[in-house]
Amino acid sequence: MKCRRCGKQAEIELRSHHTAFCRDCFKLYFLRQVKRAIKEQHMFSPRERILVAVSGGKDSLTLWHILLELGYNASGLFVDLKIGGFSEHAREKVEKFAQKRDAKLIIVDLEKEGIPIPKVVKKTGKEPCAICGQVKRYFFNRIAYEQKFHILATGHNLDDETSRLLANLLRWQMSYLVDQGPVLPPAYRLVKKVKPLYRLTEYEIAAYAFINNIDYFAGKCPFSKGATFLRYKHYINQIEYEFPGTKLDFYQGFLKKMKPFLTPFQREETTSSQVCPRCGYPTLAPLCGICRLKEEIEKAG
Ligand code: SF4
Ligand code: ZN
Repeated sequence: MKCRRCGKQAEIELRSHHTAFCRDCFKLYFLRQVKRAIKEQHMFSPRERILVAVSGGKDSLTLWHILLELGYNASGLFVDLKIGGFSEHAREKVEKFAQKRDAKLIIVDLEKEGIPIPKVVKKTGKEPCAICGQVKRYFFNRIAYEQKFHILATGHNLDDETSRLLANLLRWQMSYLVDQGPVLPPAYRLVKKVKPLYRLTEYEIAAYAFINNIDYFAGKCPFSKGATFLRYKHYINQIEYEFPGTKLDFYQGFLKKMKPFLTPFQREETTSSQVCPRCGYPTLAPLCGICRLKEEIEKAG
C-alpha cells in the first residue's frame, strides 16, 4: 500500500479514512487533526496557561508532548491514586517526561489527602472507576482554578468519547450527555475544559507515541478488569471494524444534531454558585462530594 500523500511505502493504515500514510505524512496528518480540533472548537490561544491532566498513559503524555512542541504554555497535573503496582510506575513516567522537557508538573498525592483509591473502595464498597473518576475530576478542577490556569486539557480520544456517548445514550443519562463534547465552557470556579485529541483514535495515538518515542506507561490498572467502560469500547470498536468511519460520524453527529438541545440538563457543579465551606469547590449540597467522602472515610476509621 502506498502513502496517500507522498506515494512512498505506507506504514499506517487508517481504515476509517480509507487511507494510509508513511511515518512522516502520518505525523503531519496527526498534527493537522489536533490543530483542527483546537481551531474549529475555539479551544485556546497561545497566550493562555494550560493545565494538562496526565495519567502517565499514551493519550495524556502525547497531548502534553504535542502542546509543548506547538509552543503552548502547558503544565502537567498528575493525581497519584496510590493504587499499588500501578500508580508508582505511572508517576515515574510522568516525572521523567516533565524532567526531560523541563516542564512544570504538579502532583496531588491521595495518601496525603486521606483518600487513596484502594482505601476508599475498601471502606465504602463503591465502584472503583466511578469514585476514581469523581476524585480526579475534583482535583483537576480545583487545581486548575486555584492555580489560575485558563484551560484544563485532557487526553480523551475518539474511542473514549464514543464509548461514553454510547453508554450514556443507552441509559439516557441526560446530565452526563450534556457534559459530553470536546469543550466544556467555564462555570463558577471551574475553568474551561478541552479535549484536543477528540478526533483521533487510540490506535492513531499509539502509533504517534511510538513514532515520536514518547515513553509512556502501558500497564493496566488492576481495577480496570471487567470495567464497563472497556466493554463499551469493545462494542463500539466491533461496529467500527464492520463499518469504518462510524465512530467519527457518530460523535460529530451528536455534536451537531443533539448537543444543542441538552443545556437544560446541566450538572450540579456547573450550575452552582455556592461553594463547599471546607474546600471552596462548587456544590449545591452542604458539603461537596469529596469532603463528604473524606468524612465518611474518617468515620470508618
Ligand atoms: Fe481509576 Fe478505574 Fe482508571 Fe483504575 S481503571 S485508574 S480505578 S478509572
Ligand atoms: Zn469540599
